[in-house]
Amino acid sequence: MSETGKEKTKRAMTILYEVHGNLYINLTNKCPCACTFCLRQTRDHMEESGSLWLEHDTSYEELVAEFKKTDMNPYREAVFCGFGEPTQALDVLLRGAAYIKEHYGLPTRINTNGLGNLINGENIVPKMHGLIDTVSISLNTPNAEEYHRLVRSRFGEQSFDAMLDFARECVKEGMHVVMTTVDTTITQDEEEQCRRICEEIGAAYRIRPWED
Ligand code: SF4
Repeated sequence: MSETGKEKTKRAMTILYEVHGNLYINLTNKCPCACTFCLRQTRDHMEESGSLWLEHDTSYEELVAEFKKTDMNPYREAVFCGFGEPTQALDVLLRGAAYIKEHYGLPTRINTNGLGNLINGENIVPKMHGLIDTVSISLNTPNAEEYHRLVRSRFGEQSFDAMLDFARECVKEGMHVVMTTVDTTITQDEEEQCRRICEEIGAAYRIRPWED
């Protein structure tokens, strides 16, 4: 959702935070979508994170400084997620992932809306090769029209097909691709259609639990 009109938003530079025992990384609050279900509409944090509304986009230097202050040993995975779309901050995303690989050897993941190629105006997937291991993409629904209604992407109706193409490119580059819908938000028949879309693409299908 847009921050426009949001009063008294508490901002902090919460760059690293922990969710389900994994290290999460907050690079930006920018996003081309305004999903009707976006968690940012009802909360400003995840678990004990503190506010995920950033004072400004995280710079590479700020990210590395946070890594150096943090004991990385307990973490099994580093996840670029946060309160925005990580591919909106492509340069810091790629450099940050390279730093993680070089210094900690941790598996990396992005949680994304799958619109990174539209956002950046080019196929960014080859650039992610070797830096991002898992790509978790919000599929949301098997239906292009419904997707458009739910996600309200500023790229309009091309977004659904662009998201599917992004997933195909990631599979082609050898990444582990997981496409997700949220439990109870679509019918079982629609879940079956999503499963078939994922099979055709070569992605795993995951139904995420509902978080309010
Ligand atoms: S893509 Fe994610 S961050 Fe962007 S509006 Fe949708 S749920 Fe929120």
